[in-house]
Amino acid sequence: MRELNAVVLGAGGVGKSALTVRFIRDVFVENYDPTIEEEYHRIVELDGESYSLEILDTAGAEQFKALNESYIKCGRGFILVFSLAQEATLREVDSLRQQIYRVKGENSNVPIVVVGTKMDLPNEREVQQSTIEELSARWGLRFYETSAKRNWNVKEAFEDLVRQMRDR
Ligand code: GDP
Ligand code: MG
Repeated sequence: MRELNAVVLGAGGVGKSALTVRFIRDVFVENYDPTIEEEYHRIVELDGESYSLEILDTAGAEQFKALNESYIKCGRGFILVFSLAQEATLREVDSLRQQIYRVKGENSNVPIVVVGTKMDLPNEREVQQSTIEELSARWGLRFYETSAKRNWNVKEAFEDLVRQMRDR
């Protein structure tokens, strides 16, 4: 079976762990320890093939650029996470995106998906659809609006990344 590995990066509190645990165990964890870094494993079935996927859920890395760099070196694909309820968290995605291209090379065609979380909180929403469309076009990356709580679009985002890792 083909082995793939992905790293989940983004600002603290955006929902990286809730997203990862929803995908791996199909449950919503309300209060996951923000300091825990954990590696998960799951077999993913895609288009009739099975893939062995390792996912590293990072914690608190945004303060430590050097640590990010080692994650980026080891990772084959990346899920860059921000919160739809906190526009400022998009800046961290932009900075991680640039860091990935610096480490992997500008033309590396590195597999990346961008995930906006907490779609189930429409009253707290700060990031408009138009912003997402504009950034998606400018960066050439696909965005997914998700909810780990309601299990909306989580599987779709991870499967997109697996498909990119398989094809590149
Ligand atoms: P991390 O620091 O990026 O790993 O963030 P966590 O996964 O620990 O989540 C931070 C907070 O956001 C927790 O209180 C979660 O319960 C909450 N959270 C995460 N995802 C969602 C979601 O999809 N919907 C809602 N309503 N809350 C979420
Ligand atoms: Mg976490």
